[in-house]
Amino acid sequence: MIDTHAHLHFPQFDKDREEVIKECEQKLAAVVTVGCNIDDSINAVNLARKHHFIYASAGIHPHDASNYSLDIKDKLREILSDDKVVAVGEAGLDFYRNLSPKEKQEEIFRLQIELSREIGKPIIIHTREASHEMSEFIKKEMEGVKGIIHCFNGDTELLETALKNGFFISYAGPVTYPKNEALRETLKKVPSSRLLVETDSPYLSPQKKRGKRNQPTYVAYTVKTIADYLDLNFTDVDRITTVNAKRIFGLPMTKEESEPKLVYKVRNNLYINLTTKCPCNCVFCFRGKENYVLGYNLKLDREPIAEEYMYRIKNPGIYDEIVFCGYGEPFERFDTLIKVAKWAKKMGAKKIRVNTNGLVYLITGRENVLDEFKAVVDTFNVSLNASNPEEYYKVVRPSFGNGSFESVIKFIIDAKEKGFNVIISAVNIEGFNKEAFKSLARKLDVDYRIREQKIV
Ligand code: SF4
Repeated sequence: MIDTHAHLHFPQFDKDREEVIKECEQKLAAVVTVGCNIDDSINAVNLARKHHFIYASAGIHPHDASNYSLDIKDKLREILSDDKVVAVGEAGLDFYRNLSPKEKQEEIFRLQIELSREIGKPIIIHTREASHEMSEFIKKEMEGVKGIIHCFNGDTELLETALKNGFFISYAGPVTYPKNEALRETLKKVPSSRLLVETDSPYLSPQKKRGKRNQPTYVAYTVKTIADYLDLNFTDVDRITTVNAKRIFGLPMTKEESEPKLVYKVRNNLYINLTTKCPCNCVFCFRGKENYVLGYNLKLDREPIAEEYMYRIKNPGIYDEIVFCGYGEPFERFDTLIKVAKWAKKMGAKKIRVNTNGLVYLITGRENVLDEFKAVVDTFNVSLNASNPEEYYKVVRPSFGNGSFESVIKFIIDAKEKGFNVIISAVNIEGFNKEAFKSLARKLDVDYRIREQKIV
C-alpha cells in the first residue's frame, strides 16, 4: 500500500514520529509527505531524505497563497529539483475557508501549474467549494500536466473533467463514512488505472478511527472500503493503488508490476490475456488509451504460445474460475484458446469462462466451432452492448460491418442450445436502453449484466 498524501512532518507527529514511521515501514510500500508552503516543504523533504520509503512533495497550499508572490518560483523550483520530491503541491483553490483572496489563490496555483509542466512532476490538487473553477482550470490551463485530485469529494463535474484529462483520483477517509454513499458511488466511474488512496493524516481519520489522530497505516481502512464496494479483494485494491501511485509519481516498479501480464489474478479468478487484437472499436473501450487494468499491464507486445500460458497457470484447479479475457478478443487466437482451455480443464479447472464479443463465426469463417468447446468451456460472456442492430453498429463498431449483430445473436442462440451457460453484457453508456436489453435477454433466455461506464 502507498499513502499518496500524508503530512508526516507536521507537528501532530512530533511526539511519536519515529514510532509511526517504523510502523509505516513495516506495513506500507511508500508514503508521500506533502508540503503546504516553503518552510513546510523543506521540512517534508528533510524527512523524506532520512527514510528510503518516504517521498515528499513541495508546494503552496491555497490557504498560504497570500503569503507569497510570483518571485517565489525560483525557490520552489529549487526545492522541487530534489530527487526525493515526487510532486508539486498541494496546490489549488479553497473557496470554503477563503484564507487567501481568490485572485491570489489563482495566481499561486497558476505558478505551480507552470512548474509542474516545466519539471514534469505531477501536481497534487486541493479543491474545496471550487469544483467548477478547478474544472475550468483543468480544461483551459492544464494541458500536458499530470495531476491528482487529492481527497476527492464526489463532485461529478470535477470527476469527469479530471478523468477525461488523464488525472488520477485519490480517495481518503471520508469514503469510509456511512453517510457518504454518493462518494462511494463515484468509484464505479473511475477506471482502475486512475485510482489512488491516501490518508491526509493527521486529518480525516477513517470511520473506524474517527476522533483519533489519523496516520498513514490507516490507509488500509480506505482500501478495505473500496474493495468491499467494488466487489474486489483487499489485495486487489492494494495492488491497483500501489501500482498507480508508482506510475504517477515515477517510483521504481518491480518487473512483475511493469511487464505485460499473460495471466493475472483478480479475486480468486485467473484471467488469461491472449491478445490485444479485436475486430471491434467500442465507443467506451480504453484499449490503446490505458495499458493498466486492475493493477496489471495488459499491453502485450507479442502473441505468446499456448505453452507459455500453461507454464504460468501451473495449477488451474486452485482458482474459482479460469477466464479468457484480457485486452482483446480471445477468439482472435482460436487455436491457442482451445489448446489452453482443454489443458486447463484436464488439469482440474473448476470452471472456464470466455469473455467474448461473440463474433467468432466471422473471425474464424466457421460456424461449427462450438462443438470443440463442449465439456471444456462452461460459460460464454458475450459483450453485446445493444438490443438492436442500429444501436449495436453505433456502439460496437465491428470491422465486419453489416451482418455482425445477427452473427452474434446466432452465436448466443447456438451456444445456449448446445448447453453452455450464456451471459450477455452491456456498458451503461448515455442513451443505453436498459429495459430493451433486459427484454432481449429474456427473449434469448440468457442472463445479463450491465455495468457502469468508466470515464477516460
Ligand atoms: S469488444 Fe472489448 S476489446 Fe473489443 S473494442 Fe469492444 S470493449 Fe474493446
